[in-house]
Amino acid sequence: MQTMEKKTLSILGATGSIGQNTLDLVRRNPADFDIVALTAFSGVELLIALAKEFKPVIATIGNEELFTVLKDGLAGTGIRCTAGEEGLLEAANEPSDMVVAAIVGAAGLRPVLTAVRRGATIALANKEYLVCAGDLMMQEVATHGATLLPVDSEHNAIFQVFDDAAENAVSRIILTASGGPFLNRSVESLGTVTPKEAVAHPNWDMGAKISVDSATMMNKGLEVIEAYHLFPVEKHQLDIVIHPQSVIHSMVEYIDGSTLAQLGCPDMRVPIASCLAWPNRMRTPAKKLNLAEIGSLDFFDVDYTKFKCLQLAKDALLAGGAAPTMLNAANEVAVAAFLDKKIGFLDISTLVETVLSKSDMKEPHSLANVFEIDTETRSLAQSYLPKA
Ligand code: NDP
Ligand code: MG
Repeated sequence: MQTMEKKTLSILGATGSIGQNTLDLVRRNPADFDIVALTAFSGVELLIALAKEFKPVIATIGNEELFTVLKDGLAGTGIRCTAGEEGLLEAANEPSDMVVAAIVGAAGLRPVLTAVRRGATIALANKEYLVCAGDLMMQEVATHGATLLPVDSEHNAIFQVFDDAAENAVSRIILTASGGPFLNRSVESLGTVTPKEAVAHPNWDMGAKISVDSATMMNKGLEVIEAYHLFPVEKHQLDIVIHPQSVIHSMVEYIDGSTLAQLGCPDMRVPIASCLAWPNRMRTPAKKLNLAEIGSLDFFDVDYTKFKCLQLAKDALLAGGAAPTMLNAANEVAVAAFLDKKIGFLDISTLVETVLSKSDMKEPHSLANVFEIDTETRSLAQSYLPKA
């Protein structure tokens, strides 16, 4: 049995779906981890409860208005409380072996860069960072000797079967996609779907934003861009296949005709555990695969006319320059507007497409440029939303 040295762990986005799954594993393996930092944005009561349970060095609430509630809630515990963007940077900078990057959207990019710059090992759940600033972020990782471990189930699968010693022998990376809740619905029927229907993913229980991205299949588009930055392949070597059961989490095809896959029941604790224990393995409560019970696995080609967001993301990857940063920002605005019932489901792709076609922004050469493009694109996208 492998033994694992005790690790110190910071969780950015501790109150979310990935954060909670991570803490579930920590709770089951208390001898293996010490928690250094926990952060949240608005879930202050949950953050207080988690801080009392896991006793981090620092607890941070992103929403500054909730700082007093946090401070009062943790009075007498000796836990340092911080708030706002500066507070998040302080949490990320607190020394720890591993940082779980589980803040949703581009909002967590600065804190993660702070952790990268101190050379931490990052268990990266957030895909938006690599989409909006992939080249620059990977440069920062290399410069500061940080380590990126992918939490996203597809990328974690690829990470497990990608032979680094034979990268020239890789012919394709094949990402599997469940197709989300609307795989079998006609495009005509999607105009009226509600946020509740869109968030109800058939296989995975996730936060609202990624669930909507899965329903539009923008999620798979973001993941193609994420894979491009994480693995040494060319853009044309990235493929997608629909696989509704989410048992095969992705595949790597080699020039000799071998295709290696990682399989498992759809439970995010499996890829999270693979990162937490890396380079070893740890037990999880995830159900083990029973293939005879499952019986058969299905695969289909993607319908790009129905899932326009996926086509837009693939086009943005090919276009390069500012397009992926803009795609991500426009999509974040569109998904938030859909969840707020300001626009319909099919308006998400229309808004992203309109924003991408209306701008001639230049390729970002610095992280400051990325933040400028992100901000400008968000205002442009907002300007197309229906006025209240
Ligand atoms: P959730 O919405 O469940 O959680 C998001 C977390 O980020 C919460 O802790 C939230 O705090 C915090 N947060 C939200 N906005 C801000 C902000 N502006 N500043 C600081 N913190 C903020 O998301 P998920 O856990 O589902 O996803 C997290 C990331 O992981 C996403 O990028 C997603 O794409 C990726 N991912 C998720 C998977 C999943 O299974 N959930 C699978 C693969 C990837 P609070 O709740 O307190 O407001
Ligand atoms: Mg995924």
